[in-house]
Amino acid sequence: MTVFANILLTGLVIAFVLYPLFRRQPASEPDGRLQELRLKQATAYAMLNEIASDHEAGKLSEKDCRELETKYRQEADGILKEIDLLSGGDLSGEIEKGVRQLRRGKGRFCSQCGAPVKPGDRFCPQCGRSLAR
Ligand SMILES: [Zn+2]
Repeated sequence: MTVFANILLTGLVIAFVLYPLFRRQPASEPDGRLQELRLKQATAYAMLNEIASDHEAGKLSEKDCRELETKYRQEADGILKEIDLLSGGDLSGEIEKGVRQLRRGKGRFCSQCGAPVKPGDRFCPQCGRSLAR
């Protein structure tokens, strides 16, 4: 039970951290739906990271890990498709803008989209690419 509370909390924290990032381009937002979707997306990826680390720490069984991973993967994919639809395929340029701002900071970055990732992250919080080597 605490595992799930943990997952939820981490997701919320990450979503909270990422939220201002997406608020900087209000002009390109057709409505609040897109922001809502991005929050959901960030949360889903945060969940995936949490599941992976919980599994590694032995808090989740292999079976539970796979089930949860599949669940949030599908959720994230669905959200991504809807974001693409809403943004009219213009999302990549917008992400690039944010990425360039973020690249000035230090840390690891996703090899696919360049988003910053935390040392323990298994999946990119931005595009969901697996970061495991
Ligand atoms: Zn990425």
